[in-house]
Amino acid sequence: MRDLKIAVIGAGMAGIATVIKLREAGIDDVTVFEKASDVGGTWRENTYPGIACDVPSHLYSYSFAPNADWSHTFASGDEIQAYFQDVARNQGVYDRTRFGEEVVSLVYGDGRWSLATAGGYRGEFDVVIAATGVLHHPNVPDLPGLDSFAGDAFHSARWDHDVAIDGRRVGVVGTGSSAAQITGALVDRVAHLDLFQRTPQWIMPVDNTPYDDAQRQVFRDDPAQMRQAREGLGRAFADHFANAVIDADSPAMAIIEEACRAHLESVADPDLRERLRPDYRAGCKRLIASGDFYDALQRPNASLVTEGIERIEAKGVRTADGELHELDVLVLATGFRSDRFLRPIDVRGRDGASLDEVWAERPSAHVALAVPHFPNLFLLNGPNGPVGNFSLIDVAELQLDYTIQLLDQLRHGAESVEPTVEAAEAFEEARVEATKGTVWVTGCRSWYLDDRGIPAAWPWSIDHFREVMQAPDLSQYRVTGDVAAVSVES
Ligand code: NAP
Repeated sequence: MRDLKIAVIGAGMAGIATVIKLREAGIDDVTVFEKASDVGGTWRENTYPGIACDVPSHLYSYSFAPNADWSHTFASGDEIQAYFQDVARNQGVYDRTRFGEEVVSLVYGDGRWSLATAGGYRGEFDVVIAATGVLHHPNVPDLPGLDSFAGDAFHSARWDHDVAIDGRRVGVVGTGSSAAQITGALVDRVAHLDLFQRTPQWIMPVDNTPYDDAQRQVFRDDPAQMRQAREGLGRAFADHFANAVIDADSPAMAIIEEACRAHLESVADPDLRERLRPDYRAGCKRLIASGDFYDALQRPNASLVTEGIERIEAKGVRTADGELHELDVLVLATGFRSDRFLRPIDVRGRDGASLDEVWAERPSAHVALAVPHFPNLFLLNGPNGPVGNFSLIDVAELQLDYTIQLLDQLRHGAESVEPTVEAAEAFEEARVEATKGTVWVTGCRSWYLDDRGIPAAWPWSIDHFREVMQAPDLSQYRVTGDVAAVSVES
């Protein structure tokens, strides 16, 4: 069997899993390129106060590395980052990773990828696996006058911990999941908090129950119970959320909407309540899970600002009604450019095809994983995948199982494997059609929607994703070289 030399881009959640799963499959010549100085990806970069994961922790854990010690149902960001560091350390991922190496170009030719980094490294690989994340490139809004602000301004994913927060006047722009968590965490620390809301959000109430010592001991003593807990959470998450949003008329969706409506009723001041009431359906935008957001906004030192931002001035934010909201610190919780994926890496596939040109209108990938004309390149959590309503850990693991079966073609003599244009187009057509039944198209602006207003997401169930990821249908792939050597069930 041929030994494959594999480059992995990114040492976040998916990159760590890649090293481990490839090794399990007998593929050990793996180098991870990580532009930062540590593993963790999202969880290394997002360190804002209040950061947590709204996927339950026992579900947001690798299936192969359960963690009996999660402190809460929804663990905090630093606990999650420590988990990824631990797994990476215990599984030798650090040893495989070249830190401080930003990949800038990938060029395919004669069955190999030439990889170059900004630091001058050059190497040849049989396969590239991009584990570069989805919500990675901060969306810094083009607010007039932003540079003139005399205080400190930063994006939520670039939190500046040298800037004092306590007792100061802080403004938060945005009402997404990041802003909701920041608001809850900051309100008791600051002199005043202004939340600049462009669009109200539905908020799903959640309790973040701690696991006590006894429960943790049970999980430690009996891994089977912990596995069952993970499976139960996965089932509940799928039934009550993931499968609800893909069917706008489902009873599960109605339950979510009712829970959000009832939660909004908990806001005592009718004026504030109405200003917080969205005019679109719950789940249309990525649903926010929070138990403390409304409470925070009802504190005497909090203001919800619903007037549009006109410009930023030295002293603060000037809104369209002419009012100046004076601030010491401005937090831009304004989301991410969700259409970037592995760009800005310059990727040249077969016959010099440029990924940037192929994706000029919008990114797409066959089963969210591979792109015609770009052989032996696999994108974990790639375009139009199950994002936002599943545990991305499960998604990455399933995609890796599928990818490893495609790699078997190469290990048994094939030179290259890539999806056919026809298969990728047929997949995309079916996907677009299926988005029509989702709640994402019921009338809102969100990062799910592409430039056509079509959700850039997997519109089917996680069970269907599991089925598709069971085994590649090789009729959807162009395999060159010695192709008869291995067969994969389809
Ligand atoms: P987001 O959901 O994209 O929210 C960005 C917010 O910024 C929106 O409220 C948006 O308003 C506002 N905004 C953007 N540009 C603006 C401008 N020029 N002026 C005024 N407001 C502006 O971003 P996010 O909160 O960082 O969350 C992104 C995703 O990350 C989430 O949906 C979720 O999937 C994930 N996330 C998850 C967790 C978790 O607990 N698992 C935590 C944080 C993030 P509009 O609504 O009007 O566009």
